[in-house]
Parts: sequence; structure tokens; C-alpha cells
Amino acid sequence: MNQYDYIIVGSGIGGLYTALLAKEQGSVLVITKGSIDDCNTKYAQGGIAAAISKDDSPELHSKDTVNAGDGLSDEEAVHILVNEAPARIADLVNYRVPFDTLDGEIALTMEAAHSVPRVLHAGGDATGEYIEVTLSRAVRSSGIQVLEDFMATEILVEKGKVNGMRVLDCRTGSIEELQCRFLILATGGAGQLFKYNTNSDIATGDGIALAFNAGAEIVDMEFFQFHPTGLRIPGVLPFLISEAVRGEGGVLRNAEGYRFMPDYHPKGDMAPRDVVARSILYEMKKTGSDKVFIDVTHLPPHTITTRFPHIYRFCLDHGLDITRDKVPVAPAAHYMIGGIRTNSWGETNIDGLFATGETACTGVHGANRLASNSLLEAIVFSKRIVEKARGKVRTKESASGKDKAMYCSLSQRPIPKALPVPSLTVLQQLHWDKVGIIRESQGLNQAADILAAWQQSLRPPTDQPSYELSNLILTGRLLTEAAFIREESRGAHFRSDFPESSPRWQRHIVWKK
Ligand SMILES: Cc1cc2nc3c(=O)[nH]c(=O)nc-3n(C[C@H](O)[C@H](O)[C@H](O)COP(=O)(O)OP(=O)(O)OC[C@H]3O[C@@H](n4cnc5c(N)ncnc54)[C@H](O)[C@@H]3O)c2cc1C
Repeated sequence: MNQYDYIIVGSGIGGLYTALLAKEQGSVLVITKGSIDDCNTKYAQGGIAAAISKDDSPELHSKDTVNAGDGLSDEEAVHILVNEAPARIADLVNYRVPFDTLDGEIALTMEAAHSVPRVLHAGGDATGEYIEVTLSRAVRSSGIQVLEDFMATEILVEKGKVNGMRVLDCRTGSIEELQCRFLILATGGAGQLFKYNTNSDIATGDGIALAFNAGAEIVDMEFFQFHPTGLRIPGVLPFLISEAVRGEGGVLRNAEGYRFMPDYHPKGDMAPRDVVARSILYEMKKTGSDKVFIDVTHLPPHTITTRFPHIYRFCLDHGLDITRDKVPVAPAAHYMIGGIRTNSWGETNIDGLFATGETACTGVHGANRLASNSLLEAIVFSKRIVEKARGKVRTKESASGKDKAMYCSLSQRPIPKALPVPSLTVLQQLHWDKVGIIRESQGLNQAADILAAWQQSLRPPTDQPSYELSNLILTGRLLTEAAFIREESRGAHFRSDFPESSPRWQRHIVWKK
């Protein structure tokens, strides 16, 4: 059996950056279930936030992050995020991520709920792709071993400590065991739970299911961020129209051409994402349309083509010239705010098991993520994971939000009379209809019953699609049950039957097997 110091599952920003740092400390293996660049990272458009301008400060960045978090951010974790950000950005620059510049300085853009322009970008609107390509090149050239088309299927724990994992060779179907001292889950999000989403096919909640089944704590799962503006063209997979488009002056109009956002929020088109997403749904209902529009036709064409070359080209390929045509958009599931519960060193409650990136919940996002903080979170906490693993840090720290935790475990539910056959399509429709942007008790309860029954009746998985479906069912169940339990609205979680926030709910729902 092969033995490594570090096994890292995932090859997005979290996995690759951790691998590059861990390489200095011992033997490293990266496992990834597709090719190295199959991930959400490469789709990130807007950029990465950091207080690097003279008009900005970590304090201001912290204030914006905590405000977006709506009473649930872990302020200690936020302090770390914003203060370590400039040094981590310098690391990316050293790896030669080609951030865009203006007059010789790194260019910064504005995004919703940030008080000042603080978002670095690359290739205009191709930030994630540039980061992914740069880091994967660095990993390749440093000789780190990468196993592509291998899927992690089970974490092996002995006497409370991780000692390895089982992996599926997706090409042959065989299962292998690998041993390690430290296991780092960097498996990304779970956007594939929803019919409309902006995510890569790999985003199937595998890390959540792996960690939960191994005994790790999972937290804040009810908070799933819906991006207000996914491109909505029939037959075209959702493609993100970045918030930065509104940041640069784009405005939302309903199907009748009316500019509606100022009616809903003082910040108008730059209101927080959850407000914009719900307002769009209301306008869609009001006008009987399945979309609204982003209008940038008043901006100089040159600004659009140079600042958003990727979006401009994608739309043009689908028959829309956005310098002249309004862009049809509708909300889509985007970012998993909750995840595997970690402390500020990326440690879970299982010795030797760490989590980073979208699959982790460090507590920085609270109930709602500030745009462009997720790429940043991945690099800041990946660095801390390697520092902790190499023994540089000796402090013992429990997971984030420990004082405000409500511990829950999954229990039996009644089997619905008409139980649909489980499939990815049915699961995605179920989540979109019952666990989406606007939720209420009856729909959540029905969805939870179906997911519980599926979980009980599912045959043991044997190949990648069946493992992914099983992982989505478990992840969806944790999300749905948490959304059912939280009888209030806060951040990204909105209940039409409990539309206000309640001080009683200023705490975290933590799942444990
Ligand atoms: C369209 C879009 C735009 C975005 N824009 C921004 C932005 O502008 N700024 C920002 O900060 N954030 C943005 N985000 C969010 C951000 O991109 C992600 O949160 C971040 O890239 C996640 O990085 P990660 O390393 O955690 O996961 P990912 O990049 O998703 O990588 C996960 C990796 O894990 C692998 N994997 C998963 N399960 C297994 C398994 N069982 N076995 C083996 N391998 C596995 C996958 O194959 C993949 O390699 C955006 C997201 C999307 C989808």
C-alpha cells in the first residue's frame, strides 16, 4: 500500500495551492476525479478580494465581510482572512498569476457589498482560469504526483486518527487503498444539487459526504448562495454574468424594460446577492417571464469588450452582442457557504483530517458570502493547514463558532407514498423547487422525506455516477434538514413562512453522524 505524508483530494485553487506548499514538507499526492483543471476555480470570473489599495484596509474588508455574514461570521476567522490576504496575493503574484494592471498598479474593481474597489482580476473576467492554469503548471513542473480520474470514496480512520483513504479508479472501476499522515479535502462545492447552477459537473458535495461518513462535523449547510445573474438562454447551460458587470455600471431591467432594483434596496443594482436574487424572482413572477435582463448598452463598447472579453465572446457565440443587446438572466445556485467544520488552522474534529476551499466552513462567510472572498479563503487557510501540519503551530483549537452551535443528527423520516425513482435530474428539480431561493416548511419537509427515503433505499455505489448521486443525496439531506430546522430568514437562507431574522437563531446548526 502506498504511503504519503500528504494526500490532497481536489485540484482547484485549494488543492493545488496546498500541494505546492506541502511539497516543501514531505511527500504529496493529489487525487482528482477528472482532469487536473476540472473544477469550479477555473470558472471564477469577478476576481479575488484583498485590501491592497491605499484607500482600503483590513478593517474595512473585515467590516464588509461581517456585514455580509449577517450575524454568523466567525470574527476571529475573518480577522485572519483579511489580514493575511495581502501576503497570499503576493504569493500568487510570485507564482506569476498575471493580474490585470492599470498605470503600472494592480487594477481593482468594485463588487456588490464591498465599500471600496478591492477585487483583483486577471484576463478581464477570466481570473479563475488564469489562477488554475498558473497553479497547475507550477504543480506539474514541481514534480508533485497527480492522479487524475481517481475519485476519493472513503476516509479511513483508526483510533480517531486519519490513516488513509479508499479511491475509485474511474477508468477501470477498481478500488485502491492509500495511506497518509495528513488528508486534506479540497473537493469544492455542491452546485449540482440544483437544476439551475453555475457550477462545474464535479461539484457534487463529495467532500461533505466523505467527511460526514468518517465522523466529521458539518455546519451551516442551509446557507447556499444563489447568484442573481446566470445567463438564461434556452438550451445553453447556465453561464455566469459576473457581478462585476453591474459593478462597472450594468443595470437590471424586467421583461417590460423597467429598472426595478432601486424599488427593492437603497443600493439598487449593487444590493447584496440574496436581495437581488429574490427581487429578480418577484419581477419574473410579476411579468410572467422566466428571466430579466442586464443592460450594459449605455456603456462604451470598448469598456465592455476589454473589461469582460470572456462574457462578451460567450454571448456573441450564442447570438447576443451585449454592446447592443440586453442580456437575459435568472438566478442560479452558485456557492456552498456551509461545509466541513474547521478551526482557523483548517483542522476538522478528526485528527489528521483537514478541509480547505469551498468544501470547508471556516466561518468567514457566516450566513452569506461577500463576493470574491472564496478564492481568498482557499489560499489563506490552505497556507495555515500546511503550517499546522508541519508542527509549526502547537496550539489546540476547536472548530469555529463553538459557542453558538446546535448539534443535530439525522433521524428516520416517514417514507412518502409516491416516492420518485432517484436520479440526478429528479434530485436537481426537487432542490430547485423545494429548497431553492424562497423556502417554506411544507416543501422542505416533503423534500427531506424523499431524500431520507432515497438514502435508505439506494444500492451501494459502484462507479463515479452512482457515488456522486449518493453524495448529492446525503449533502442535499443535510442542507434540506438544516433549512427546515432554521425557522427564520438570515443571509442566503430565506423562509417565506419566517421572513424575519430572530436573535434566537444567531447560532450554527452542526451535523454529526
Ligand atoms: C461560475 C463561477 C464564478 C465564480 N466567481 C468567483 C469569483 O469571482 N471570486 C471568488 O472568490 N469565487 C468565485 N467563485 C467561487 C470559487 O470559484 C470557488 O469557491 C473556488 O474556486 C473553489 O475552489 P476549491 O479548490 O475549493 O474547489 P474546486 O475549484 O471546485 O475544485 C474541487 C476539486 O475537487 C475535485 N474533487 C471533488 N470531489 C472529488 C473526489 N471525490 N475525489 C477526487 N477529486 C474530487 C474536483 O475534481 C476538483 O478538482 C465562482 C464560482 C463559479 C462556479
